[in-house]
Amino acid sequence: MSSILIVEDEFSIRNALTSFLAGAGHSVEALANGMEGVQRAVQGELDVVVLDLGLPDIDGSEVLKMIRAVSTVPVIVATARDEEEEIIRILKSGADDYVVKPFSGAQLQARIEAILRRSGSEPTQGPISIGQLTIDTERRTVTISGESVDLTRKEFDLLAYLASRVGVVASKRELLAEVWRQPYGGADKTVDVHLSVLRRKLGETAAEPRYIRTIHGVGVKLVDPDS
Ligand code: CA
Repeated sequence: MSSILIVEDEFSIRNALTSFLAGAGHSVEALANGMEGVQRAVQGELDVVVLDLGLPDIDGSEVLKMIRAVSTVPVIVATARDEEEEIIRILKSGADDYVVKPFSGAQLQARIEAILRRSGSEPTQGPISIGQLTIDTERRTVTISGESVDLTRKEFDLLAYLASRVGVVASKRELLAEVWRQPYGGADKTVDVHLSVLRRKLGETAAEPRYIRTIHGVGVKLVDPDS
């Protein structure tokens, strides 16, 4: 299931797209104006944003710029303007794809799925095992000694990121950018809080680390505690 945000001011279109995509098994949020869309997009945890260009409060192309300043989430622009110049301008300013109104839910769904295939196009790898810890990035499951560990989405993303580069130190800024998509963050405690909870769930603490090692002043890395 993918998380999709629709930003569209026209009630009938917003509702039709929401029910179509929800019916196709996606998790859909829908908002009617641009600023709310930006605020939601910067919170992250979205797989695709569908953005109407003609919005009541600010132009969709401005919304796109604001989203792009803080996020790499794929954006599909929905436009009533089918002039080639306009479409080129939209794609150059950071849209991943576009649909020209009127378009069907089926067309939008096909474009969303194509984007999801591309954004998930890193070579699929089997589960990663580090000591007794196994991380299955396809199924998004984690086990320790065969016992399943219940993680939130961000805790999983954080662990999977560290597991993708075992033994390599990641700075908190890097984690904020790569896991939270917040390249300008750094002052808040988001990473520390998630690391602390993740450690507890993995059965360790900062004082007695096993898998997650802190390199003071640098960052953290995932290691095999038994090697
Ligand atoms: Ca509109």
